[in-house]
Parts: sequence; structure tokens; C-alpha cells
Amino acid sequence: MKTTKRCSVCKEEKPADLDHFQRDRHNLPSKLTASCKACRSVTRINRYRNVERETMKLVQELATVYGDPLVDPDPMLSMFMGFVRRAKQICGHEESSE
Ligand SMILES: [Zn+2]
Repeated sequence: MKTTKRCSVCKEEKPADLDHFQRDRHNLPSKLTASCKACRSVTRINRYRNVERETMKLVQELATVYGDPLVDPDPMLSMFMGFVRRAKQICGHEESSE
């Protein structure tokens, strides 16, 4: 008989196995993460979104000091912009370039 585990995020009852949860040996007694794999991937995307927001804020702050990064590219700003692009791709929010 398979045991089930309720995900702490979506509250869904799912089989307590490695197909549905990730291993977390510190989380006793199940030794599985509290949230299911599906929810954890959503959490990861949200984290990227936060990073993206924070990075944009930083880019804007730097832009007010150094000027428009698109007009006057600075290696540091280019790096940040690349990071933002990557974060957008990971989130699946990459806007098609004109
Ligand atoms: Zn879940």
C-alpha cells in the first residue's frame, strides 16, 4: 500500500514517492520535501521573478548614475541586462524581439 503526503502548498494528497516529492533527509519522518515537485518548480519561477524585479531596480538605479545602458553600454550593466533576459527566458516571458 502506498502512503500519501499532503503538499504544504497546493494541499493536494499525492503519493509519498520521489516522483511527486523531492528528497529532504532533514524533513522527518517522510524524508521528503513539504511541497510537491510541481509546487517547488513554481516557487523557483517566482524566485526568478523576484530576482528579475530586483535586478531591474538595480539596473534602473545604475542607469540614473551612468546613463541609459542601451545608449552607453557598460560591462556591468550589460551583464545585468543579460541576467534579466535569462530570467525572462526561464519564466517563459521572453518577449519576441522586434
Ligand atoms: Zn503541491
